[in-house]
Amino acid sequence: MQYPWLNPLIDLLAAQYQQNKLHHALLICGAKGMGKRTFALELAAGLLCEKKTGLPCGQCKSCLLLETQAHPDFFIAEDADAKSIGVDLIRQVVNRAQQKSQLGGALVFYIPDCDKMTEASANALLKTLEEPGNNKYLILTTSAANRLLATIISRCQQYVLKPPKLADLSQWLENQAVDIDAFSQIFAKVNGAPLVALEYAQGDYLTQQAAFLAQFKLLITGKTSAFEFSQTFDENYYLQQLDWLNQAVLSWLGAKLETQVQNNQQAIKRLVISDLLALIVQAKMQMLQSGVNKKIVFQSLCFNMLDKLKS
Ligand SMILES: [Zn+2]
Repeated sequence: MQYPWLNPLIDLLAAQYQQNKLHHALLICGAKGMGKRTFALELAAGLLCEKKTGLPCGQCKSCLLLETQAHPDFFIAEDADAKSIGVDLIRQVVNRAQQKSQLGGALVFYIPDCDKMTEASANALLKTLEEPGNNKYLILTTSAANRLLATIISRCQQYVLKPPKLADLSQWLENQAVDIDAFSQIFAKVNGAPLVALEYAQGDYLTQQAAFLAQFKLLITGKTSAFEFSQTFDENYYLQQLDWLNQAVLSWLGAKLETQVQNNQQAIKRLVISDLLALIVQAKMQMLQSGVNKKIVFQSLCFNMLDKLKS
């Protein structure tokens, strides 16, 4: 498989399939950059393959149709332009699940980012999720399982894509156009999500981090304004930027305050640092909500942090 860290779970599910023990509703959870989509597509291909091993042979009619994205018995419930998965899309799944497969094999539905289902969508899916019918499978993926309704979770068999160890990636990394040292440095900071680390290592992540922290230093030494600093915000890297702020507060800002305060003011120092960290956490929670203007949240975070430092 393309991503070797996914092999153990794909093999496990293929074995369950061969023993007729595979659950018909599979919820695959994993952080961004773990390869959830690739996993779901591989699993779907295995379920649809005419060889019935649970793994795609890559040669049968079904496998070839999937490659051309023209398989009549595979349906992805996805609207790339929409922020949520609307009930109309789910009704298509429900209706299609009531019909027979066209090629005589399995019928497979894939719902990516299933946490984006509205409550109405989730409710519309429940009956099909519970009993889709013989040789019909639903694969749901999410990076935010905590946002799913309990009624969805309880009807699925849940699996988690766990971060691999860096040592287990060496062979895969050899075939990627990436600086291995840069990858290793970043890998630890992105909670072990290989594809995020790869994207950052192939981009200019370390340069961006250095530039961002240099600007933050100017902010807390009063050489730039909160408004100017907030212009460094990059929505694509917002979780990383908040993480960098967190690290900065904990490390050299802590050291800086240490030299400024007298021993009897240690308590005040700790208070400022924990206040700053709390502000970052608060901003993160706000940004994780859908439909929020992240840049405005970041701007107010900058103003609030500066206020805290002045007080
Ligand atoms: Zn096949």
